[in-house]
Amino acid sequence: MSKKVLVLAETREGSLRNVSFEAIAAGKMIADGGEVISVLIGNGITDVVNELVAYGADRVITVEDAKLEQYSSDGFSQALLAVIEQENPEGIVMGHTSLGKDLSPKLASRLNSGLVSDVTAIEADGDSPKFIRPIYSGKAFEKKVIKDGLTFITIRPNNIPALEKEDGRSGDVSSVSVDITDLRTIIKEVVRKATDGVDLSEAKVIVAGGRGVKSEDGFKPLKELADLLGGAVGASRGACDADYCDYSLQIGQTGKVVTPDLYIACGISGAIQHMAGMSNSKVIVAINKDPEANIFKVADYGIVGDLFDVVPLLIEEFKKVKV
Ligand code: FAD
Repeated sequence: MSKKVLVLAETREGSLRNVSFEAIAAGKMIADGGEVISVLIGNGITDVVNELVAYGADRVITVEDAKLEQYSSDGFSQALLAVIEQENPEGIVMGHTSLGKDLSPKLASRLNSGLVSDVTAIEADGDSPKFIRPIYSGKAFEKKVIKDGLTFITIRPNNIPALEKEDGRSGDVSSVSVDITDLRTIIKEVVRKATDGVDLSEAKVIVAGGRGVKSEDGFKPLKELADLLGGAVGASRGACDADYCDYSLQIGQTGKVVTPDLYIACGISGAIQHMAGMSNSKVIVAINKDPEANIFKVADYGIVGDLFDVVPLLIEEFKKVKV
């Protein structure tokens, strides 16, 4: 049965995050031929509406206000609630990102509706869609079916492929005006960490370092390899605890959960808490000088050796391929 589905778009510094396009693809599967409406909340954001249409949105609704310049739980929930009231959808999809993890349970509880979080795949074969999500830190998967009622879905970035971009596709664009009041948090300034390059949670390639990297300088070859492959640098908590890198790079149970196409683990032992954040990566390469290291149990390719020998060799070889 076809459904009307709202999909929340996410921007960062004026650009749409990839997960916005993946959420549209997820919305299409849930809508089953029904309407997929992208909702864009912020201030001065209208430049990107055509991109949402090109990636499959049938309509775009914007909510703009100076108070929505930065994300706040109160502001964005007021904005999205106004669109939900106007459109009365059957499903609402957003990324399983910091924003989605904050907003979805808050609104689901406010509206007394369902929430399926951290969805990595959707089976839509005409019946009610089945939402597949990892449980027990990725060791097993469960399938959930929601029979009726409004349901919030958060999708894990990098798992549900976006649709092919179709430039010139047309779709309606309208706006909803909302009086944003009673903000309990006012963000005065956002100070960004001095990390450059690709966003770790959306990176297709991650080169991660552990305690085996031994120092802050030890991360330099990993960064060079990541840059060469268009990827991002990540880390184990061991490396963060040792002060070799910032905690924003931590991957694992208490860090970021990532699913890149390629994960290269360098000097990481493979503790269960680390694997909870990366074991669903599509291809895992592990470099470790201990042949018994646990990380080899999840690796597709294992290299037993010193990372300070192996990583420069990889850089050399990838440079040849790139030329
Ligand atoms: P180690 O276990 O010390 O391993 C270093 C590895 O480097 C070894 O295997 C060694 O053989 C190899 N090595 C050394 N030198 C070289 C070299 N020159 N070349 C190649 N290999 C080399 N950890 C996380 O990562 N993420 C989390 O989110 C997380 N959450 C946690 C939550 C809780 C509640 C707890 C209790 C722990 C958590 N941990 C987490 C910590 C986790 O248990 C491990 O302690 C941590 O992952 C170990 O990091 P590591 O693999 O870098 O270090």
